[in-house]
Amino acid sequence: MEISLKDQVAVITGASSGIGAGVAKSLASAGATVVVNYPFEGSMEQANSVLKEIIDAGGKGIIYQCDVSKEDQVVKMFQDIVSELGTVDILINNAGIQKDAKFTEMTIDQWNAVMGVNLTGQFLCAREAIKEFLRRGIDPSRSVACGKIIHISSVHEIIPWAGHANYASSKGAIRMLMQTLAQEYGADKIRVNSICPGAIQTPINTNAWNTDNALNSLLTLIPYNRIGQPEDIGNLAAFLASDLSDYITGSSIFIDGGMTTFESFSTGG
Ligand code: NAP
Repeated sequence: MEISLKDQVAVITGASSGIGAGVAKSLASAGATVVVNYPFEGSMEQANSVLKEIIDAGGKGIIYQCDVSKEDQVVKMFQDIVSELGTVDILINNAGIQKDAKFTEMTIDQWNAVMGVNLTGQFLCAREAIKEFLRRGIDPSRSVACGKIIHISSVHEIIPWAGHANYASSKGAIRMLMQTLAQEYGADKIRVNSICPGAIQTPINTNAWNTDNALNSLLTLIPYNRIGQPEDIGNLAAFLASDLSDYITGSSIFIDGGMTTFESFSTGG
């Protein structure tokens, strides 16, 4: 059994770093042509180095600058990709940020920034991707599905997180967005799922793993006793984007080393 995404075009938002970069590499190694999205001029070099690694390994792709929280930029990104690469088969809605604050001190700017990227960004990209899936229709030479969307959510779509009300709210909302889209477009053979990572070693959470103390404290939350890596998420994303998972839609798949078993109850509670 082999995962093949041959001849399919995959857009990965926020692919200049962390999980998005890991997913882009996995999908490219399964044969997809990947669009490595990055938000700002300053991250172009990083996006280029992700693409270089992909090409050096025999894969295909392009980089594309777009701030996913901006409607005009997202609409243009999908138009440009379709005119350059023909269509879009897979969307990995990954871009995400944190702006942490104690709730009573959280500013409207911190709230709006996180909602803008984590939720509105996922809405805008999903809308443009679905329009393109429906325009193209099913092409059995590419996939038995008309299109696949994978939202990168979080264990915080179900675990409340003090000091992170904006982030946890955005991830809780992604669950309903994902399930609603799976319901609304199931008959069109569009599959929509979420990946819910636990602690993955990336720049978003550096202070949770960059000292022995921090890492040891983090590991008390993870029964499997290791921090996750971007390629853990990449492997799952490649499977979920492929026809091997054709009967999976409307699901949140937790990939967290057991974090959602609530390790702190392991001694009795
Ligand atoms: P990361 O390394 O900080 O990567 C985030 C990516 O999103 C970067 O490429 C970033 O670009 C990009 N980005 C930020 N704002 C954007 C915008 N407006 N438009 C387009 N791209 C934008 O963090 P990560 O850990 O890989 O996070 C990726 C996703 O996984 C997020 O949705 C996060 O919530 C989720 N997640 C992560 C963990 C974890 O433990 N790491 C756990 C659960 C869920 P710049 O670098 O240029 O800002």
